[in-house]
Amino acid sequence: MPRFLVVILVLCFMSCNNKEVKINKVSTKSEKVVIAHRGASGYLPEHTLASKAMAHTMNVDFIEQDIVLSKDNVLVVIHDIHLESVTDVAIKFPDRNREDGRFYVVDFTFEELQQLNVSERFDPATNKAIFPNRFPLFKSNFKLHSLQEEIELIQGLNKSRSKNIGIYPEIKEPEFHQKEGKDISKIVLNVLAEYGYKTKEDNCILQCFDAKELKRIREEFKSELFLVQLIEFEEEELRMEEFAKYADGIGPWIPQIIKGKDKNGKWLISDLVMNAHKNNLKVHAYTFRADELGDFKTFDELLNVALYEANIDGFFTDFPDKVVDFINKN
Ligand code: CA
Repeated sequence: MPRFLVVILVLCFMSCNNKEVKINKVSTKSEKVVIAHRGASGYLPEHTLASKAMAHTMNVDFIEQDIVLSKDNVLVVIHDIHLESVTDVAIKFPDRNREDGRFYVVDFTFEELQQLNVSERFDPATNKAIFPNRFPLFKSNFKLHSLQEEIELIQGLNKSRSKNIGIYPEIKEPEFHQKEGKDISKIVLNVLAEYGYKTKEDNCILQCFDAKELKRIREEFKSELFLVQLIEFEEEELRMEEFAKYADGIGPWIPQIIKGKDKNGKWLISDLVMNAHKNNLKVHAYTFRADELGDFKTFDELLNVALYEANIDGFFTDFPDKVVDFINKN
């Protein structure tokens, strides 16, 4: 073979290889995980089955469930242990509040909870919406539902849409539940196992703010699920080595990662993500909201800094479509 032909072939091979490198790069980016925070909660009331179905059509990686127990030990998908910020409990059951004036999920049976209408989040003191440009308060017809009902919705959509979208449950306030005589983690783990979520391969990430409880889930219950330690305080940022002993990732909030701008207008990034990565912990940060931008001019600017400057691995977002678009086009 003439020498110049060999050179051309080698060059071709190299350029093909270059293309492959580029493709690999793209696939690295697509490993960034999009988590529908309480569903597509920027568009429909949080934690309703409607908001979960909508999130599913946005082709996210995971859909989030916050979990609280009812009086009769049903796992209810709701963000707070209280009811008054997203339901009409104060109208339907006016005498059922505790001394602190609040209505607790755990004081109601699941049958009673299903009588409530669910709304976009509001401040019960003023009846004003928390996010005024979102879905209107108490319109249409939304109800509370169980973790099982939501898993069946997501697994059903996975089947009918030929997708494999995961679940991302959060155990809420385990210590409160224990004081009420309830072992919420045990009940959650049993239900997850029943629906096929047992190991890191099963497309389920389990999260909790309570470090003692998450450690217990790994060590006492011997769970093999992917575990994420949620954090919110500065002192927790120094505990990466400890978290790495039982967790697979951490979930900090954005201000723990992006610390404002310096004098030259450059975004200041903390070393939290770097330290987490050093300890083999993934970082899934909360909460990316297109209608709560803080110092950022646009949502894309926030996403850009979080992804490329801070190098986070996952986004909890109320606007999953926008984050999926951003990741696909970048
Ligand atoms: Ca949550």
